[in-house]
Amino acid sequence: MQTAERVRRLGTETAFSVSAEAAAFASGGKTVYPFHLGDMNIPTPGNIVEAAIKAMREGKTGYCPPCGIPELREALAADVNVSHDTSYSAANVAIQPGGKPVIGKFILALMNAGDEVLYPNPGYPIYESQIEFHGGCAVPYGYLQHDGQWRLDVEAIARRITPRTRLLIVNDPHNPTGAACTPEELERLAALAMEHDLYVLADEAYFDIRYEGTRKSLASVPGMLERCVILYTFSKKFAMTGWRLGAAIGPEDVINVIATLNVNDESCSNHFIQYGVLEGLTGDQSHARRIVETLRHRRDVACGILSGIPGVLCPAPQATFYLFPDVTKAMQRASLSDYETMRLTILRETGVSVCTRLHFGRPYADESRLYLRFAYSGMEPAGIAEGLTRLTHFLETGGA
Ligand code: PLP
Repeated sequence: MQTAERVRRLGTETAFSVSAEAAAFASGGKTVYPFHLGDMNIPTPGNIVEAAIKAMREGKTGYCPPCGIPELREALAADVNVSHDTSYSAANVAIQPGGKPVIGKFILALMNAGDEVLYPNPGYPIYESQIEFHGGCAVPYGYLQHDGQWRLDVEAIARRITPRTRLLIVNDPHNPTGAACTPEELERLAALAMEHDLYVLADEAYFDIRYEGTRKSLASVPGMLERCVILYTFSKKFAMTGWRLGAAIGPEDVINVIATLNVNDESCSNHFIQYGVLEGLTGDQSHARRIVETLRHRRDVACGILSGIPGVLCPAPQATFYLFPDVTKAMQRASLSDYETMRLTILRETGVSVCTRLHFGRPYADESRLYLRFAYSGMEPAGIAEGLTRLTHFLETGGA
């Protein structure tokens, strides 16, 4: 069958193929330490589970409004207004089947073919995929290391803005580096967006996974409420990645377009799960706090071991559940220079399954350092320690 021409422009999230390889390796009886996928092995809070089951039993199993049940839209607007210092109402919220669909819908709602869209590279690979799929021109910007910490390269964004730039995608806090913007960086981004009349997707999938520092949203900077669409998700905050619920939060005219896209795509998001997260937002908050504490402990275990490996530079991020260490020297010692050989050798020799820089976009021509990405959300501290100790031994002995 001859598939459509546009399909050739569609990318993917290659971390899912790493999962398949890790599963194949495990099926041979080997132990695998799954550091590759940002999934979570932490249970969803019991009150959310119970509320969803109750709603299902009460018959909340039919279609619901395309943008979600009014109670949830109101509760989410109120909750975000407190955490983000914003002034949204229910009309600014369109519930989605996960955070991911917001990326394509934002682009469909606001980008014309040929428009330039700035997006992070390294970054979540779906941005580039969706921009190109819908006929836009994807323009990457990067991250820099300052005092051992990753920082958004705001000046790279400023340099790459042209008269054709229409959209800016910002992922704060950032997958894969864990970088979180400072208030000054957010102010500068807002100034650029206003000066050049850009609309912004603020992908805040990890907004609530913060260990230190103050959470601040780009949408809260004066003038940005009208220009920002927030990608909101319940996936990480309530450890419910597989339930699939999130939201687009933004100006009412964009939300109205997204509502029509919802009608065209999925009619509505899962009905009874919305009652589950309504309980999550309005009920006992100690579960969400415990999820962050659990992840913080895992970060400390993972970072402590990785930063002790000779030739590995591993700053501890203040947010997300990812580490993006510079492994250049350690890999040189192990005579591993290309990313795929490195990843497959590490899997084969140690059982540690990771993503590399390649899973987060095409490296820049002048990029010479090597990076791996470790997700520590899917394993208990003991598994994290065991896997990384094996990796340490492998690298300390020069890959022998
Ligand atoms: N944005 C980023 C940066 C992510 O890392 C993810 C998931 O890993 C998402 C969005 C989408 O998450 P979900 O669709 O589970 O809400």
